[in-house]
Amino acid sequence: MDASPKSAPEIRLRGPHLVVLVGASGAGKSTWAARHFSPTEIVSTDRCRALVGDREEVQAYSKQAFELFYFLIEKRMELRKMIVADSTALDAGTRRNLLDLAHAHAYPAVAIVFPASLDARRSRNAGRARQVPDDVLVTQQAAMDRAVASIGREGWDTVNMLGQGETKPASVVRLGAEVRSTTAPPYDIVGDVHGCYDELTELLAKLGWLVDGETWSHPEGRTLISLGDLADRGPDVPACFRLWIRLHAGGKALFVPGNHDNKLMRYLRGRKVTVSHGLAASIEQLDALPRRERGELQAAILRFIAEAPPYLVLDDGKLIVAHAGIKREMIGKVSKRIQDFTLYGDVTGERTPDGLPVRRDWAAQYRGNAFIVYGHTPVPKPIPFRRTVNIDQGCVFGGRLTAMRYPEMTFEHVRAKRTYYERPAGSLLTLDEPDG
Ligand code: GDP
Ligand code: MG
Repeated sequence: MDASPKSAPEIRLRGPHLVVLVGASGAGKSTWAARHFSPTEIVSTDRCRALVGDREEVQAYSKQAFELFYFLIEKRMELRKMIVADSTALDAGTRRNLLDLAHAHAYPAVAIVFPASLDARRSRNAGRARQVPDDVLVTQQAAMDRAVASIGREGWDTVNMLGQGETKPASVVRLGAEVRSTTAPPYDIVGDVHGCYDELTELLAKLGWLVDGETWSHPEGRTLISLGDLADRGPDVPACFRLWIRLHAGGKALFVPGNHDNKLMRYLRGRKVTVSHGLAASIEQLDALPRRERGELQAAILRFIAEAPPYLVLDDGKLIVAHAGIKREMIGKVSKRIQDFTLYGDVTGERTPDGLPVRRDWAAQYRGNAFIVYGHTPVPKPIPFRRTVNIDQGCVFGGRLTAMRYPEMTFEHVRAKRTYYERPAGSLLTLDEPDG
């Protein structure tokens, strides 16, 4: 087994999580949980044994106790509550069940591993009111070794190893989900811009935005929202970012990143990325700027994308904006899985014969009350469907740049001045539609 666990000085939980404690009896799980979480947040198999059978030490009650354990966890998931699962979780089946529940409810799942020597557990066990038989302590030690060996490959969002010693140094920092915006309507929400700066400024003018030098504002105090993909393919990516960053700094714009922005951010961080799908255009346009200006703008773009929330919950939960969409159960939560969904949509990992990623139609399944505005995959027209609407009309491919006014729920568009980038084969976009 790997005897050098990664220590976790601080465990950061942004929004609701499933926190699964993993460790043998007497390792200190319940003590640690009680220090960092409120009693109702902790769902414990011992407690469940007591609730169904009066006595928490009677292992014969385990079947009923585990049923109640999973039931309580699932009920708390329906209500989007923080959950600490306090069981030994030493067998892979229990961990699998907990992970399956987390995935079904779009919960980020964090494992906290409590290593403790057999000697330490024996001496703590001796001092306890409810003592675990010694042979159980020994069997659990072997199960713990197996759990530590395999847990890294099971699909947890993070695995935190606590220290072996007397004190458990990990502190828990709980943060808000950071996806709720308090910026009140009205909003003008704009689909995938992809560097189409001329069309963007024309659209802003049509929406009633006024420009004074480089500063845009709307006489009704409207907020401009980008659904992401300001970057790549089109003729003036730097100007699009400059405009949005300025407005955002002035409290007049919001932004959620698209997959192209995310990739540009990774490129600007110096990561190895494949220069494809129009990233070359962003790079060339940035490289063409005077050195000083280029450095400043690149740093600003990097910060702007990195600090943007993965999606936004607006107007008290009545409106969601997410680049490629979002599932109902993901709303209000933050995890890598959810971020990937908002960037790329419900991709299966497979590809069509044309080489495009296979995407499941999350919007067709959506049954939530919040209205979701998204983009990512160009469609000919912005047609609301089941409280969702796709406002990416493929401007950079020679389509249109669309805005949706909220709460009015009316649309405005401008036609592309030309085709800046050939659309991928098999795309849903048809460009010969009459103006509607
Ligand atoms: P669990 O079985 O993993 O939930 O372990 P508990 O949290 O119930 O702790 C088992 C016993 O060890 C209790 O009597 C605790 O008071 C004690 N204990 C828990 N954590 C520590 C620790 O870090 N150091 C010491 N010395 N005792 C601890
Ligand atoms: Mg316990």
